[in-house]
Amino acid sequence: MKQQGAILWLTGLSGAGKTTIAHGVAQKLQKRNYLVEVLDGDVVRAHLSQELGFSKQDRDTNVRRIGFVANLLSRNGIITIVAAISPYREIRDQLKQTTTNFVEVYIKAPLAVCEFRDVKGLYAKAKLGQIKHFTGISDPYEEPLNPEIICQTDKFTIGQCVNQVLDYLEYQDFI
Ligand code: ADP
Repeated sequence: MKQQGAILWLTGLSGAGKTTIAHGVAQKLQKRNYLVEVLDGDVVRAHLSQELGFSKQDRDTNVRRIGFVANLLSRNGIITIVAAISPYREIRDQLKQTTTNFVEVYIKAPLAVCEFRDVKGLYAKAKLGQIKHFTGISDPYEEPLNPEIICQTDKFTIGQCVNQVLDYLEYQDFI
């Protein structure tokens, strides 16, 4: 197989645009006949990490599991796109060091923009105290210090952000 695997790790606040961009990139790659898989944080939690909560320890365990699966897929030549808040820098950096072709993509939007979008109505609940440990409100988000890509989703359209990721993959000869 000519295709080389990679892990595109999309991190950022809830509502920043991770899922949207992940599926946008996946669609474009599939159209070009690349094998792609999307691992969405919410989906993984519903299947692989049902017992986990949102303490630092549980979040790190969840991220480690996603990283493990992403690595299995990637080493078999699949371009694996992860969309997960993954708020802690140390565990993301660990994955970057222990996997190959790990591309950290910071999906960046100001908290105020994410709150305004409130795609799933979670910010409203978090602010009322109905959800504890909500990233950005009552739980930390540690920004990447050296991400390979930063998509500023408050400044650019979805299409522009998707193309930014594809351009990087081309530039790095991943595709
Ligand atoms: P997350 O997966 O990070 O929680 P979602 O992808 O579910 O975020 O939601 C992001 C929302 O922001 C969507 O409603 C999307 O249409 C909107 N949006 C506006 N501009 C952008 C952009 N440039 N990139 C991604 N999403 C955007």
